[in-house]
Amino acid sequence: MNWQKCQKCGSDRIATVSSKCNDLCTVTIKEKESDTYVPEDMGIGGGSYTEFDYCLDCGQIKGEFPLKITELENKETVDKEDVDTSEFKVGGMYLKTKHGKIDSTN
Ligand SMILES: [Zn+2]
Repeated sequence: MNWQKCQKCGSDRIATVSSKCNDLCTVTIKEKESDTYVPEDMGIGGGSYTEFDYCLDCGQIKGEFPLKITELENKETVDKEDVDTSEFKVGGMYLKTKHGKIDSTN
């Protein structure tokens, strides 16, 4: 049997991980978060499966690195201040709240 070897240190202590998580995969890069299926462009599988091989000696994940800028890194960050805005109707008037302050919209 031809065991695979680590591309970095040549060790044959390679662990193969395969996990079916469907859309329960959370990946974060700095302030950006993906909370759905496994990203296809990160060398950790993709879609419903998290799959990768890594070296138990040096920690290297098998694959070709560096990876291209990933979709997640290119994702627009959602401005939390905008998310914080909510609208509701009180006494026939629409009101908007922002950071707890109430502004009348008209
Ligand atoms: Zn290694």
